[in-house]
Amino acid sequence: MSTMSTSITEAATTSSADAATADAGSTPERPLTTADRCDACGAQAFVRVVLAAGELLFCAHHGRQNRQALERRALFIQDESSRLAQGA
Ligand SMILES: [Zn+2]
Repeated sequence: MSTMSTSITEAATTSSADAATADAGSTPERPLTTADRCDACGAQAFVRVVLAAGELLFCAHHGRQNRQALERRALFIQDESSRLAQGA
């Protein structure tokens, strides 16, 4: 029979271009930049969510909206949305 090993989580892991350089197995914070975009709406991302399958980026709005669901599944949540309030 054919293998059923095609991972449904594959898609979530292939979006990060710098995965090769940060392959330590840990989940270190990294600064979010203007190049990081919300996976939901494409706005600048201020929340980075690390899941077992990969990572997701959200703007402050969608980060807040999905927070409860994400906290249940995330290994790590990096929330820089407070930077918005500082007017930076
Ligand atoms: Zn968004």
